[in-house]
Amino acid sequence: MNKIYDVIIIGGGPSGAACALKSLKLGLDILLIEKDPNSTKLCGGVTPEVTREILKYDIQLDIPKNVMSRPHHLGLYLVSPSGQERSIPNYRLLNLSRDKFDRWMLNNYVNMKGNILLDTYPKNIRILDDYVKLEIVREGIHHEYVAGKYLVAADGVFSWVRRKLYPDTNNNLIPVMQEKIVLDGEVEDYFYMMLLKDSITPIYGYVIPKESYSLIGVGSTREEIGNITKFIDRFKSWATENLDIRLRHILSRRLGYIPYGRPRVTYGKNILFLGDAASLCNPFSGEGIRNGIESGLLAAEAIYQGLSENRYATEIYHEFVKDLTLYIIKMKKIVEKLDNDIKEKFVIKGGF
Ligand SMILES: Cc1cc2nc3c(=O)[nH]c(=O)nc-3n(C[C@H](O)[C@H](O)[C@H](O)COP(=O)(O)OP(=O)(O)OC[C@H]3O[C@@H](n4cnc5c(N)ncnc54)[C@H](O)[C@@H]3O)c2cc1C
Repeated sequence: MNKIYDVIIIGGGPSGAACALKSLKLGLDILLIEKDPNSTKLCGGVTPEVTREILKYDIQLDIPKNVMSRPHHLGLYLVSPSGQERSIPNYRLLNLSRDKFDRWMLNNYVNMKGNILLDTYPKNIRILDDYVKLEIVREGIHHEYVAGKYLVAADGVFSWVRRKLYPDTNNNLIPVMQEKIVLDGEVEDYFYMMLLKDSITPIYGYVIPKESYSLIGVGSTREEIGNITKFIDRFKSWATENLDIRLRHILSRRLGYIPYGRPRVTYGKNILFLGDAASLCNPFSGEGIRNGIESGLLAAEAIYQGLSENRYATEIYHEFVKDLTLYIIKMKKIVEKLDNDIKEKFVIKGGF
């Protein structure tokens, strides 16, 4: 190991890929490490229209139609515990095909000749004054050492880096069960977010139309995870009665997790956390794609500034993500005291 990269990024999801692409544009010397580039992510794939603008403005990438699901755009439709319904005017969401979107992001980086090691994961980490040294495992067998002035952890909700450096992290997670389901009947072009009585679902239930199927999901509290199949069944009964649909057959059912811990965006002088690894996903709405991308772009900018101005990028990054961090903390507090009244107000006001 002779070379020291400016930055090593672990994880090539939206956060890590955005950071890698921006770092390349800024002329940084990067290495991206991705454990499983062909994994299928459990996700609704819904993200605000602004995600497109951010990618265009910051890294000059235009999301192509072939990484989107049909319908390409969705409105937001809310239902409250008392049954009040409303669509939010002028609110447009992009309906992404999540796996295709992630691969498209990563391919852009590869096409720009960014350094990448696939089927590779870190095994050990040593933090020195001026750089971080990693022992990595390639293709399950080859052990090597790599080093970077900065290490960026973008390795998702179960972040290896976070667990290694913050072993006290008690993995505060919100379980979400999602089904891919074929429906009879018309689902309109909406992301349906149902904030129903907590006797139906403790947090929310959602329906998202995709090509030839729909996604139906429910979020639960951690304490009630044992009841999550009951919640999704109750939610489906509600949806069958209240939307004009019938459930034909389930293609798959999976359990996933949304981070719910206190955001942790840095460690020491040279480690930065992004997206789910930093707990920067909105615990109320589950929105994590846009936040991950934003944190990735800001981390690249912070590292560039840090190296140019001889300052610690971690300090700069802290400042850059302050508003996002405070917003996530606010949402976490709301989820902690979420009850039917709060849900009702949210729907009536169309936000908090
Ligand atoms: C059921 C469900 C539905 C959701 N729906 C939505 C939605 O509709 N809209 C939305 O915005 N968000 C949604 N989210 C949240 C969203 O999926 C995440 O917030 C988002 O994926 C975070 O991006 P990321 O890049 O930080 O992490 P990830 O997308 O998880 O990417 C992490 C990457 O790191 C790699 N990796 C992991 N460990 C290692 C390792 N040790 N070494 C090397 N590589 C590693 C993984 O293979 C992966 O590619 C949903 C989440 C769930 C659970």
